[in-house]
Amino acid sequence: MKRLVLKFGGTSVGSIEKIKNVANIIKEEFSKGREIIVIVSAMSGVTNDLKKKSNLISENFDDKELDVLLSSGEQVSCSLLAGALIDLGLKARSWLGWQIPIVTNINYNSSQILKIKTEEVSKFISNQGVAVIAGFQGISFENRITTLGRGGSDLSAVALAKFFKADSCEIFTDVDGVLTTDPSINNKAKKIDKISYEEMLEMASLGAKVMQPSAVQASMIDDILIHVRSTFSKKPGTKIISENDIDYKKTVTGIAYSKNNAKISLVGVVDKPGVAADVFEPIGSNNINIDMVIQNTSLDGKTANITFTIKQEELKKTLNIIEKNKKKINYQKITHDGRLAKVSIIGAGMITSPGVTHMMFRSLANEKINILAISTSEIKISVLIEENLTQRAVKVLHEAFGLN
Ligand code: ADP
Ligand code: ASP
Ligand code: MG
Repeated sequence: MKRLVLKFGGTSVGSIEKIKNVANIIKEEFSKGREIIVIVSAMSGVTNDLKKKSNLISENFDDKELDVLLSSGEQVSCSLLAGALIDLGLKARSWLGWQIPIVTNINYNSSQILKIKTEEVSKFISNQGVAVIAGFQGISFENRITTLGRGGSDLSAVALAKFFKADSCEIFTDVDGVLTTDPSINNKAKKIDKISYEEMLEMASLGAKVMQPSAVQASMIDDILIHVRSTFSKKPGTKIISENDIDYKKTVTGIAYSKNNAKISLVGVVDKPGVAADVFEPIGSNNINIDMVIQNTSLDGKTANITFTIKQEELKKTLNIIEKNKKKINYQKITHDGRLAKVSIIGAGMITSPGVTHMMFRSLANEKINILAISTSEIKISVLIEENLTQRAVKVLHEAFGLN
């Protein structure tokens, strides 16, 4: 018998009507004679509201208590959905992460799944039951509730598909699949039929919210085929699969962006071995992620300017760390800018197509969009620009690379 993992995101269960609609989708799949494991996110907006409440208590809300708080949204949606299925005449029950248990490490707020116990749920689904499992949560070996990072129900789905050896992992969401770019910023975005794990990982890490990056990474490691599709239509969505099963007709597969980036420049740093390490060591040890880095040397070779980017919400903290380490880092001047965006083009087809970089930069220049920093890998090019130019940049690149 075919075993399916079906994950429904927050917008798919955003109201009572929508939960009833999801229950009908599940009933239809069940009536085809499949074993079904459902993973559900919190109703849309709920996790954000809970996060806001924690901030009202404290800006430094305890990370373990935050996981208890944030995971509560999924308890509501999974019981409502199980109840809706029972109301349709199906045998169903809900499970929270700790009840299964989904065991994670102690990296609270963005834990990794280590193990999932399968016996009880397996028995239930093989006896005609539909298992409804709360996404986004687990329990650590310290016996405390954990969560898997924002958007983490995707990771729950992939991990459950792995541990339960599912035939298919279907991610139901509010768009038709993975699109060439975010449709909320460009209505010319088109559905991609197939995308490789590598490209999807870049898209997700560079801002395409449709899949959580850790979920894509997990699916890539274990070769779990994912189907991203719409809750609101029956059309086939996007298959995330191995690169070998795709032939690349286009140079660029998709365009992603992330807002809320900040840039810090240290001007006139003495240019000697170890300076970059001196700058980044205290920042890294405070768990702040550095993204892009540019270093250039003055004409006389005595000083350097070091520019780097971080998330906007870490700007204040980072500036404080640099100030504290001023003696060691020894710079003449510091400047910063907190309203920047990173726009990226992604595509495995780039590897074999020369001229992509130049085409990207020329298209942006024609729109008078200034590039503040650049970073590249084999299958992506990212540029840093003013945040208010994001939509224009995405649109112009979407057209330039033939994605409209
Ligand atoms: P869910 O609640 O189902 O987990 P998310 O809100 O996390 O859904 O992700 C879906 C959203 O991702 C879409 O509504 C869309 O605005 C956004 N998105 C960003 N980039 C893309 C893309 N390339 N393709 C599809 N959706 C995208
Ligand atoms: N509810 C969680 C969040 O909003 C997990 C998820 O939706 O996947 O991040
Ligand atoms: Mg999501």
